[in-house]
Amino acid sequence: MGLIPYKNEEYLDWSDEKNVEKMRAALKDVGSRLDRSYPAIIGGKRIETDGEIVSVNPANPSQAVGRTARATDREADMALDMATATFEYWSRTSPEARARILLRASAIMKRRRFELLAWEAYEGGKPWAEADAQVAEAIDFLEYYAREMLRLKDGVEIYSIPGEESRYTYQPMGVGVIIAPWNFPTAILTGMSSAAIVTGNTIVMKPSEFTPVIGAVVAEIFEEAGLPEGVLNFLPGYGSEVGDYLVQDARTRFISFTGSMKTGLRINELAARQIENQRWVKRVIAEMGGKDAMVIDDSADLDSAAADIVKSAYGYSGQKCSAASRAILHADVYDEVLNKVVEKAKALRIGVPESADVNVGPVISEPQFEKVASYVDVGKQEGERVLGEDPGDPEDGYFVSPTIFEVERDARVAQEEIFGPVLSVIKARDFDEALRVANDSPYGLTGGVYSKNRDHLERARQEFKAGNVYFNRGITGALVGVQPFGGFGMSGTDSKAGGPDYLPLHMLARTVVERF
Ligand code: NAP
Repeated sequence: MGLIPYKNEEYLDWSDEKNVEKMRAALKDVGSRLDRSYPAIIGGKRIETDGEIVSVNPANPSQAVGRTARATDREADMALDMATATFEYWSRTSPEARARILLRASAIMKRRRFELLAWEAYEGGKPWAEADAQVAEAIDFLEYYAREMLRLKDGVEIYSIPGEESRYTYQPMGVGVIIAPWNFPTAILTGMSSAAIVTGNTIVMKPSEFTPVIGAVVAEIFEEAGLPEGVLNFLPGYGSEVGDYLVQDARTRFISFTGSMKTGLRINELAARQIENQRWVKRVIAEMGGKDAMVIDDSADLDSAAADIVKSAYGYSGQKCSAASRAILHADVYDEVLNKVVEKAKALRIGVPESADVNVGPVISEPQFEKVASYVDVGKQEGERVLGEDPGDPEDGYFVSPTIFEVERDARVAQEEIFGPVLSVIKARDFDEALRVANDSPYGLTGGVYSKNRDHLERARQEFKAGNVYFNRGITGALVGVQPFGGFGMSGTDSKAGGPDYLPLHMLARTVVERF
């Protein structure tokens, strides 16, 4: 296929009034389409369920964004049956034809970009720039995985011995269950689903209970792109009600999960148990939480470091697995960096994402709001709060202001994933200690070092325990194809989404040898 080389999708320029106008129009248009119903889609058929999930706007919880089906074991069973039957056909469809569906889905997302941003603002509470980065990432996944499949379609080179030909190729696996989180509802759901589909598998797609409407829009885009019925079966439902069924079922070949450590470990455990009629060892691709640290040493550019700490800690209210939730500062620059961080964080504009200058929106849901609020209480006991206020009434929107605690390294707020706009600042005597503190976590997703000291950077290059390590820059916003993403330790199986090793995780590698 004669495709142009892969290139990341550019972000929108919000200083361009035309983009602002288009976004306002999209917010108005999507605003007039709220509170509609979205059934499950199984084999192309719309399936109603007895119950429903009501998805609300986190900035205005009395506003329903939409109502989706609430799948039970019955619909899960139908979806697995459909995906199993469709696999026979889809697995034999050519890789080129499969890749074209992704390219078409990407073109549709580009055309519907502002609409997707508006859904992100309503259902995810995303500020515009955050929503835009995420939709651009979804487009990148589609473009990148389409090209990756073309690269891998004939297998990869291996050696042969004289008189023989050895070939190493990839084939589809079977039915995949795709379980996504709410924090990147367009990008991660699209990325995990498209990787599974382009490699010839069929899927049951379960979005998060907090962003099922965006899930329905993504499913609809694949449908519009011409994906044959039954390849993607859209199954909105509560993980607690339908998750175990999907994971344990003998028809499930693999599970691609992104979410919390707790859920990921449960899925891993359940998937490992052999049940009746099971014909394979299920594969689990699990990307989980983080407690990501930025180390600032005494040689760093302190203004830049402070700006990137603030960006990495408070982008999307800290609800990124890659968010900086620990800043570990060298004692000699501690006060200066902390003051700069406080000053810059104070300048952030918090509010409903209805204009481009809102930097911090609400947290996603009432349970998340309660969780973050309880950590604010814990932090107040463990250390000194140098920025932030007690969260207000959740009925007014799930807003939590950017918060900073000065704490010791073993404080709970410095050890446990909070997933909100809460930063723990820790003092380190020297670089050695800073690196030890950074590595003192069960997680290992992202991390950063700000330094001009070559020895420090080289040491961190080897020793920083994280799947994605960044020097002299922020630690969030991994670019597809440029910063393949996935964590060490309890952060997951290091699948490196958006990287060259990702698609093979969704395939079986076959070795065929012929002697002549
Ligand atoms: P979560 O509570 O673990 O939920 C993730 C998904 O799992 C949801 O679709 C959820 O459904 C489902 N689920 C819940 N219980 C299940 C069960 N027993 N079996 C199968 N599925 C089940 O996580 P979240 O709150 O949505 O997302 C935030 C977490 O994701 C954070 O820990 C964050 O660090 C992590 N994350 C990691 C990455 C990464 O690449 N490493 C990226 C983004 C987010 P319901 O929504 O219905 O509960």
